[in-house]
Amino acid sequence: MHISILTLFPQMFLGPFEYSIVKRAQATGVVDIRLINIRDFSTDSHKTVDDHPYGGGAGMILRVDVIDRALQSVKRQKKDVKEKIVLLDPQGTPYAQSKARELSVTNHVILICGHYEGIDERVRSLVDETISIGDFVLTGGEIPAMAITDSIVRLLPGVLQKDTATVDESFTHDLLEYPQYTRPQQYLDMKVPAILLSGDHKAIADWRNRQQIANTEDRRPDLKKKIPLQSKRVAGTR
Ligand code: SAM
Repeated sequence: MHISILTLFPQMFLGPFEYSIVKRAQATGVVDIRLINIRDFSTDSHKTVDDHPYGGGAGMILRVDVIDRALQSVKRQKKDVKEKIVLLDPQGTPYAQSKARELSVTNHVILICGHYEGIDERVRSLVDETISIGDFVLTGGEIPAMAITDSIVRLLPGVLQKDTATVDESFTHDLLEYPQYTRPQQYLDMKVPAILLSGDHKAIADWRNRQQIANTEDRRPDLKKKIPLQSKRVAGTR
């Protein structure tokens, strides 16, 4: 798959994309990540990309014409590939694992990072959707683009050592993951639950399923209403 990121600060991505799973996915050709510098699409000698807001107000606004030129150039380079254009935006739809899965089966995702005070409102008409990574305001869309890219890449086939690793993960089927333990079996007075040492795979699977429901109900009551009725636990049990 292809991911193109339109940004004023391509250098910000170098560290995060040069380690671990995202690095390996690029090296093996599973994903092709391109960083496009929006400033390259300015037409004046000062490389201006923003301007003062009409009507007055603080800060600078990214220009719609500059962003459109950057977008058109990316689309031209991959004209046979179906793309989805996403604007990173604190006013956008809250990001979730279901959206990561949807984007991971898209051939070409184009992420547009705003910066400064924001972007010209007309940029919205150039994109397929807007995504927020939470109800807080960051300086730019670069960190959201990194988070979204990471969440997509780890879902691509062949990226994780076991593709099943993402099946029981938190937010798949609207449940949080079950608790995990490794050695030592006992630390201070804290012991690994005996059932995990039993070797009884069916009992372990049942226990994990109950823990997923309990964790979700306790830690994310907002997700609770999505748990199927027959899965709900009897109060007080684990
Ligand atoms: N003035 C804008 C507002 O109040 O809605 C905020 C602009 S913010 C300082 C600059 C850019 O950072 C935005 O255009 C967006 O691309 C990005 N950004 C900031 N917070 C974000 C969030 N929670 N999710 C996604 N993108 C965000």
